[in-house]
This record gives sequence, structure tokens and C-alpha cells, in this order.
Amino acid sequence: MQSFMKFRANIIRKGTKRMDKKRKSWGETLKMTGRALGIFYRRYPQMVISRLICVAWAALMPYVGIYLSACLIDELAGRRDADHLRFLVVLLLFSQAGIALVAALLKKWKETQNAGMVFKVQSVFAEKFLDLDYGKMDETRTSELFSTIRQNENGGGWGLYPVLGYCEDLCSSVLTLLGGISLSASLFLSRVPESAGVYAILNRPLFLLLIIFVMLFFTWAAPALYNKAGSYMARHADEHNLGNRQFSFFGFLGYRRELAADVRIYRQDKICEKYNRNKESAFGSKGPFAGYCRGIVGFYCAASSAMTEIFTGVVYVFVCLKAWAGAFGLGAVTQYIASVTKVSGGLSKLIETLGTMRNNASFLAVVFEFLDLPNEMYQGSLTVEKRRDRNYEVEFRNVSFRYPGSDRYALKHVNMKFKIGERLAVVGMNGSGKTTFIKLLCRLYDPTEGEILLNGINIRKYDEREYRLLFAVVFQDFKLFALPLVENVASGSDYDEERARESLEKAGFGERLLRLSEGLATYLYKDYDKNGINISGGEAQKIAIARALYKDAPFIILDEPTAALDPIAEAEIYSRFNEIAGDKTAVYISHRLSSCRFCDEILVFHEGSVIQQGSHAELVADENGKYYELWRAQAQYYVN
Ligand code: ADP
Repeated sequence: MQSFMKFRANIIRKGTKRMDKKRKSWGETLKMTGRALGIFYRRYPQMVISRLICVAWAALMPYVGIYLSACLIDELAGRRDADHLRFLVVLLLFSQAGIALVAALLKKWKETQNAGMVFKVQSVFAEKFLDLDYGKMDETRTSELFSTIRQNENGGGWGLYPVLGYCEDLCSSVLTLLGGISLSASLFLSRVPESAGVYAILNRPLFLLLIIFVMLFFTWAAPALYNKAGSYMARHADEHNLGNRQFSFFGFLGYRRELAADVRIYRQDKICEKYNRNKESAFGSKGPFAGYCRGIVGFYCAASSAMTEIFTGVVYVFVCLKAWAGAFGLGAVTQYIASVTKVSGGLSKLIETLGTMRNNASFLAVVFEFLDLPNEMYQGSLTVEKRRDRNYEVEFRNVSFRYPGSDRYALKHVNMKFKIGERLAVVGMNGSGKTTFIKLLCRLYDPTEGEILLNGINIRKYDEREYRLLFAVVFQDFKLFALPLVENVASGSDYDEERARESLEKAGFGERLLRLSEGLATYLYKDYDKNGINISGGEAQKIAIARALYKDAPFIILDEPTAALDPIAEAEIYSRFNEIAGDKTAVYISHRLSSCRFCDEILVFHEGSVIQQGSHAELVADENGKYYELWRAQAQYYVN
């Protein structure tokens, strides 16, 4: 079991960046927390302001009650003036009602502004991903960083999420502290009468200093011990995250629809059961975290609670002794005990929050390492000439390419040229470099060597977004959304219905469209609409092609989008596509040569190089060539 767990742990640990165990300095902590707060404030100012106002109201208003209650008790124990008592009672009632009303309104405002918090935080990462060079998405560092951020969020609630909470706590604790000090300062200044005998010691400055020191000590000790427990957990975040990942994997395997068949056939539930019943797993009763809680972490937490109780005891003794000796009346006793406890609570919370903020700083460092990942692709600014005749010419000049982090060339010395209106086929075995060729053409990556030219100009010099407008690609692994059909075709909610309908008809989806009860508004899949439709691989294909047609770009590219179809259905799609590509330049990629026969020009890729180029007739005539070899092999297969 142990070796199995170790093996599992290694698999799961892969793809995670180990946390830097060194605690960040206070300077770094404040800088990073400020930056995180700025991120929220710039995007959602009302969200931040509503939280802070709410917390300030909640921190300051209790003092109104404390003060008025003290006045009331004093009046009851002293003058007992009925009119004044009535006035105090009415004031207390109305002020409390008013405070509660404003608090409820503020809370509503805050809740409205804070709705969708998860989305708001995740959008920070989503925007960064969208802004990243496409090639950066392949890099291990990118996926490691993001995976670590996610695990820190899920594991211990660390990272960007808690920052607003810390700011609330800081604000609340400082205001509580100030309010408490203003109501409790007179506790230390009021004197017991000299006639009080031995109690006169309570007036001595040295005694006062000692009592203040004792109070401060316990106020500091409680959160300091609590933070010690917290920092211990933060230092073990890697173990915690690993445990969390294992738990997410084994604990929920049974819920996953896509695994349901395998689980039953291979009785994989037994593996999960073994894990879930293992008391020594990360969160098991004999696991490391249970051990920490029974041991050192539990001790720190218990000691922290004890310090708070001792502090309360000291305050009670001091205040009661002063009252007993005649320094102040009964009303002041309640006021001082409440306000000193609040001062201590505020100070404890301040220390505790600062400590947790510091623990969180190492996790924020990972967040910012991700958000600061630099883009390296050169950003040109030339506008792409919008030609009515669509007369564009593309040239690959001695292009070689290695994927980021790979030392193998996926493309080697590719030279080719093609013009608008041509039908170009790219053929070759799996892994020969066809998709890579298209990704370079669309400038998802820049060549490692050589250059790609559009009308004689290196494509790096064009504005990247504008350049990409030239291409409509149906990738092998295209994705459709669980949205209305028309929004899938138009890639947005702002669409031209007629154009969408035409594109679907051209792509061969016309008949099916007529049978849809809600027509273009029909939802794909059932995620968001119970009347949504489930579509077959072939239908999905047609919708993806319609999406490419709707874009109406000068280049239309099909990257083996028919891999899921049988050869006959593929040939049908390809031959239709020849009709509908019209004056566009069409690039077809396939490892099935029969689908590409009709192309003007065929490029044969092999191990990253273009080894043959020509029309079908020319290529098939060369009996020593790769094309002939592939053609023969596939023809035989179909004849059989
Ligand atoms: P084809 O489209 O002809 O099947 P590809 O262009 O997808 O081939 O792949 C060409 C080579 O590049 C293959 O050896 C493949 O393993 C490698 N490759 C593809 N994508 C990546 C990637 N993101 N990172 C590293 N290597 C890759």
C-alpha cells in the first residue's frame, strides 16, 4: 500500500511547482498585498469600497451602545432622574435601531457588489491566459504555476482570494482599537481616593505600566501563537495540496460519467476504497495533518485560546478593584470591561491578520509570478492591407521550428509559396508536421529559424490580431459551446442571422436546421437548456465549418477536422468544401490522400520536411516517392 501511495504521489505531484518555503519580509508582504488590492480596486471599485464601509460601520457602532448603556447604568445607580433616564432609553433604542437599519442596507449593498466573487478572481487569471503568447501555454512553467495557484486556493484558501478579507480585518481591527482606546483611556487616568489604603497602589504609575505591559503581553501572545500554528500549516502547503489533489482524485472518481464504464469493468472502485480507507493518507486520522493538530499545531491553538482567557481575567480584576476602591461607578465598570476587551480584541485581530497576510505573501508571490509571465513574441504594428481582390501571397522561406522546451525540430527548412484562390493540400503521416505548419501560418508560434512572408513582408511586422483575421481554421480538436447554434456559428451574441443560416447551409447543415424546432436559437447540448440538442461528430464538424465560413476570411483551413468520420463522409465534406471555398484560399490537411486529389497543389510532409510538392497526377506518377507509397497503401486498404 505504501509503495502504491508513493507511486501515486509521484504521479500527482508532477505538474506542481514546489512552494518557496522562505517567509517573505514585511516589506514584500505589504507590497504584494497592496498590489493584489489594487487589482481588485481597478476592476471592481464598488466591491472594495462596500466591504470597507461595511466593516467600518460594524467596528465603530458597538461603542455607541457601550457608551449609552454605561450612561444609563450610571444614571440608575446615581441621580435616578426620570426625565434623563427616559431620554437615555429612547436615545439608546433609536440609535440601536438606526444602526441596525444602516448595517442591513450596507450589507445588502456589499452582497450585491460581491456577487460572483469566484468569477471575479478567476477572470484575473483568464485574462492573463488570453493575453499570453500561444506558445507560452505549452510551457511547463505556465501550467505548473497555474496548477500551484489553483491548489493553494483549494487547499488552504491562499492566494488572491483572501486578500480582500485581510483588508477588511485590518480596517476593522484598527477602528475597533481606536474606538476602544477612546472609551477606555480614562480607566487608566481615573484615580482611586488616597483614603482607599492599600488600593492606592492602583494609582502608582509603575503599577499602571506593569498592568498595561501584562495586558499587551497577553494581547500579543494570543494571536502570535495562533499565527505560529498558521505558519506551520502554510509551510506544509505542499503536503496539504498533494493531499487535496489525491482526495479530489480518489474521493470523486465515482462521480465521473466519462470513467463510469472503466470503473465497472476494471473494478477501479477498489483502488479508491483502498485510498479512502487509508488512515495514513494526508487527511486520514493517522495522517500527517491529524498528527500536526494533535501535536504542535494543536498546542499553539490551545495556548492561544488560553492567553485570551487570561487577558479577560486580568481586565476584570483590574477594573473591579478600581471600582471597589471608589475610582468610578457601576456604569463605568461595564464600559471599561467592554471597551478594554474590544481594544485587546482589535489588537489581537490586527496582529493575527498581519501574520496571516505574511503567511499568504509566499502564495501571492506565485500568483504574481504567473501574472508577470512575459510575452516574447515580437508585436508588429503594420496594418494588413484589406484587398478587395483578396490577392494575398504567402511564402515560407527556409522555416524551421522547435516547440518551446523541445530540442526536436517539428519543421525543418520548409520552403513554399501559395497564392489566393488556390487549393492547397498538406498530406503526410501522423506527426509529420502538418498542424505545426498551420499553426506557424496563423502566427500562433514564430519560426525558430527562417521567415514567413505575407505579400513579401515578414508576418511578425503585422499587427497580430489583424493578421489573424485573415484565417478561418477548423482545427482537429475544435470545440463548440453549450450556447445557441447561431452564437456558435457567429462566435458571439451579436450576429447576422441570414449569414449564419447561409453558412450552415453551405456547410451541409441546412436540412438538419430545418428540423430544429427552435431553429438557429436551438441550444447545443443540454447544459443550459433542457431542449438543447446533442449532435453527432459529423454534425459538429459541419457547424465548425459553418463557423469558419461565417468569418469570411480570405484563407480557410481544414486541419483534418474529419478524423472522426468514415472516409466516405470525409470525401463528401471535402468535395463540398471545394465548391464553397469559392474565391478563398483553401488549405486542406489530411492523412487520407483520396480527399485531397482535387487540390491544385499538394505538399507532402515527412518528419517535418516537405519532401514532395505538385499536383496529384504528378505526384502519383513518381513511383519512388512517398506520395505514391502512401497512395498505394491507402488505395489497397479501401479496395479490400
Ligand atoms: P501532424 O499534424 O502531421 O500529425 P504535428 O504538427 O501535430 O503533426 O506534430 C509534429 C511534431 O511536433 C510531432 O512530433 C509532435 O509530437 C510534435 N508536437 C506537436 N505539438 C507539440 C507541442 N505542443 N509541444 C511539443 N511537441 C509537439
